[in-house]
Amino acid sequence: MKIEKLHPKNINEERRTKNEERLKRSMDYSIRRNISDHSLWSGGSPILIHLDLELTERCNNDCIHCNINRPEGDEVAKGRELKTEEWEDLLRQAAELGALSVRFTGGEPLLREDFERLYLFARRLGLRVQIFTNGRLITPRLADLFARIPPLEKIEITVYGMRPESYEEVSRRPGSWHEFRRGLELLVESRIPLVVKGALLPPNRDEWTEFESWARTLPGMEGPPGSGLLFDLRGRRDSAARNRRIRELRYPSEMVIRMWKRQGPKYREEMEKFCRRFLEPPGDLLFTCGAGRKGCVDAYGKFQPCLLLRDPALVYDLRAGTLKEALTGVFPRLKEMQARSPEYLRRCARCLLRGLCDQCPAKSWSEYGTLDTPVEYLCEVAHAQARDLGLLPEGRMGWEG
Ligand code: SF4
Ligand code: SF4
Repeated sequence: MKIEKLHPKNINEERRTKNEERLKRSMDYSIRRNISDHSLWSGGSPILIHLDLELTERCNNDCIHCNINRPEGDEVAKGRELKTEEWEDLLRQAAELGALSVRFTGGEPLLREDFERLYLFARRLGLRVQIFTNGRLITPRLADLFARIPPLEKIEITVYGMRPESYEEVSRRPGSWHEFRRGLELLVESRIPLVVKGALLPPNRDEWTEFESWARTLPGMEGPPGSGLLFDLRGRRDSAARNRRIRELRYPSEMVIRMWKRQGPKYREEMEKFCRRFLEPPGDLLFTCGAGRKGCVDAYGKFQPCLLLRDPALVYDLRAGTLKEALTGVFPRLKEMQARSPEYLRRCARCLLRGLCDQCPAKSWSEYGTLDTPVEYLCEVAHAQARDLGLLPEGRMGWEG
């Protein structure tokens, strides 16, 4: 069946029935326990709602903007990755701490030879599984597995171009476009709920309107596809050359704003709602996000506050301890950490635009190797956006009150 032949209206009823059947099957599949037996009620236990698992940093693509990937055949990286039983142990720990969902990401998580086993293990624990993938390694067998035992979260596929030429100029892997399309079609044919998102890059820039229209025809898509625009540098800070290249791919702030505004009146409505809640100076506390209450495990068993923040001083080695120990003994101190950089204290700590701005310790770390250096590119975008929304007069800066 071709994707173009499917239309949400035609399949809504069928999909609802199928989803109900899947949910029932999935509940039959999961291990059932009496909720009153859960260790959560014993008191003193930290609660973990969600956990990101970066199963591997390796990827079968080599995208020009990628902030993490290592080559697919990197045997050294592969040898350092957590073993199947270690991932299973972490999944068990997460479920014991109350987690309801996990995200399998990478690199390309489907490169793990034990992907299926880990997926089934997580689902048996009752965890919903979100999967971030480029879709190239979806096979009929995997699509069938997702149909029989659904992930209960939409599978997220990133699209790098509408045509082989544009896609492969980004992915730098010949043949990758056809594999991605085939993977996507397999999921669509099996009625697996999915969403697509894009990364707006020079090779695919002219295809964006076409991408949005096509995305609307996919079952499961609600609203326009998400798009990466503010490309992050490499969290490992492992390649000056690649970071230079990523910086070159970034758009000027006016163009970023133009792209955001393509959503029409909805953009302004949402921004106004957001600004009413979040436009206030954050003070000198570094972590005003959920860091310390959730986290991400990298491919080698290091528990990080979030996907991008790989500062060795802030990670916890789960090969030498447990998730519970990290959440009780180590991560809570993040909430107390204060900025020290005079520039941050002069600007970000007092900045009205802080809620609008993407500045955070993780971005600062990937750009400069510190936790509290204002990221100039993000600062520029936040100011351009605030001026465009009429929140800040020309010439005034966010920290000037
Ligand atoms: S598919 Fe994703 S992880 Fe792989 S190289 Fe591209 S951006 Fe990086
Ligand atoms: S707009 Fe600039 S000063 Fe304000 S929070 Fe962002 S980086 Fe800091």
